Amino acid sequence: MTAIPFDNSYVRLPDRCFARRAPTPVAAPRLIHLNRALAANLGIDPDWLAGPDGVAMLAGNSVPEGAAPIATAYAGHQFGNFVPQLGDGRAVLLGEVVDRDGRRRDIQLKGAGQTPFSRRGDGRAALGPVLREYLVSEAMAALGIPTTRALAAVATGERVVRETRLPGAVLARVAASHIRVGTFQYFAARGDTEAVRALADHALARHYPEASSAGHPYRALLDGVVARQADLVAAWLLVGFVHGVMNTDNMSVAGETIDYGPCAFLDAYDPRTRFSSIDAHGRYAYGQQPGIALWNLTRLAETLLPLLADDEAAAVEAAEAALGGFGPRFEAAYHGGLARKLGLSGDRDGDTALTDDLLERMAANRADFTLTFRRLCDAAERPEADAGVRDLFVDPTAYDAWAVRWRGRLAAEGRAPAATATAMRAVNPAFIPRNHNVEAMVAAAVEHDDFGPFEELSAVLARPYDDQPAHARYADAPEGGGADYRTFCGT
Ligand code: AMP
Ligand code: MG
Repeated sequence: MTAIPFDNSYVRLPDRCFARRAPTPVAAPRLIHLNRALAANLGIDPDWLAGPDGVAMLAGNSVPEGAAPIATAYAGHQFGNFVPQLGDGRAVLLGEVVDRDGRRRDIQLKGAGQTPFSRRGDGRAALGPVLREYLVSEAMAALGIPTTRALAAVATGERVVRETRLPGAVLARVAASHIRVGTFQYFAARGDTEAVRALADHALARHYPEASSAGHPYRALLDGVVARQADLVAAWLLVGFVHGVMNTDNMSVAGETIDYGPCAFLDAYDPRTRFSSIDAHGRYAYGQQPGIALWNLTRLAETLLPLLADDEAAAVEAAEAALGGFGPRFEAAYHGGLARKLGLSGDRDGDTALTDDLLERMAANRADFTLTFRRLCDAAERPEADAGVRDLFVDPTAYDAWAVRWRGRLAAEGRAPAATATAMRAVNPAFIPRNHNVEAMVAAAVEHDDFGPFEELSAVLARPYDDQPAHARYADAPEGGGADYRTFCGT
């Protein structure tokens, strides 16, 4: 019996789309954590996966039957500069499975050793970034945001050399696919229209099957990616997520959040917030994300021009029309989401002004993003709970003036206060991966080989919309608002 029901389609693309490469074995694999529910959903026996053969596979020490390990080729704009060849330099795609819900999913090992795309890199990953990606990607999934998933983290028993010597690890990651905007760019930059077409056909069949039968399937593909990215970035903003490195090679054509590196969540609300130490100019700051997504989608559209129409003017017109769909789609998702966060179901004149006014007051008063919205759920139920919201504002009267207008608008909804509060709690998380908690979790694991905080924080973040009084401290904001927090690329 084969342990993993592989069914690989990417390897049927032209050879130049990837390089065949098995993972490089590691010294002493040790399972840190297994996502048993995800394994079962993929049709893999969790007990087998947690056993010696499974762990050997997760570490890259053995290649399971049916796998076709490859490193995929891609290019990308990094901070606006085009790099014609990036590719999987430290990740090996083992293959694909069709899960219990009928969805095709990649199983990839990140940190699996060198590939032809490694350039000067060692092909490895350090434990800290692996645990960070594990925790944050699973938290995003629990929040209901499209994302790659974490199947397992395995310690390698080897050290990786970064600024210091750090414990190494491998992350087994599951994704709808690993096709990036940069994958299209790799071939477009080489004038290889046939490969762009093959890739587009693959992406259509895999991610946008309804578009395959459209009158203009490649235009429908672009429309589809535009729509999913608009929705995705809106979902990020609504939970205060800053991806941190929205290079075109880190943008998934399937519309999932991918490549968790220097990502982090807002504490105090300020749209200019950026955490990444290498993002000196704030190109990828919180509030820049919609504009950057559109910029990246424009790069995707450029790669598709030869497929969109025979004559160039018509192709450009089609691309511009598709890209023009981003703004309205994003605005509807973002402002619709903000309205729901405030307990407003319908869409009335003035709602956008009301939500934007709150955000402006929050920014001016350094109010914690997550706590403000969560405490507003209580305030919707009991006006006495206003005190908890006011406390979050440097000048509490900034809240008072807004709250009068909000209450007037809520009254017009005509819904019972308890029902409003329940609806609000379902979209305003109590728990997000707070940067200071993530940092403490990583430090315990890396410095003391203590995975207790990882286990506890993971369990709390699996139920982000539930009050968990025993774990209330994980909802607390950091001292000082957290704006000086810095993240580093997860290499
Ligand atoms: P990232 O910053 O993770 O999006 O990676 C950007 C590029 O650098 C990709 O092509 C990665 O494969 C490559 N890369 C990052 N870290 C390493 C590493 N340790 N060894 C080899 N390649 C790497
Ligand atoms: Mg990347």
